[in-house]
Amino acid sequence: MQCLRCRSTHVRKNGKKASKPNYICAQCGRQFIDSYDLQGYSEEMKHECERNVCEWSRFSSYRMTKKYASSDRNNLGKENG
Ligand SMILES: [Zn+2]
Repeated sequence: MQCLRCRSTHVRKNGKKASKPNYICAQCGRQFIDSYDLQGYSEEMKHECERNVCEWSRFSSYRMTKKYASSDRNNLGKENG
């Protein structure tokens, strides 16, 4: 069992929540339920994830373009120097 926030394995049982064992991190105090998987997320959460992935791919392709542009400039500089 590992803390989702700080990755510490120093977690303690903290009773039950919605009939699932609840844990608390001794390191940062984060509380969480044992089984964290996509099936446990609500539909809204899934949509949120999909939107974030979409945003992320747009963001990374923008960064790629910028990176290529600047590496082109760097390569030109190296050839000259
Ligand atoms: Zn923690």
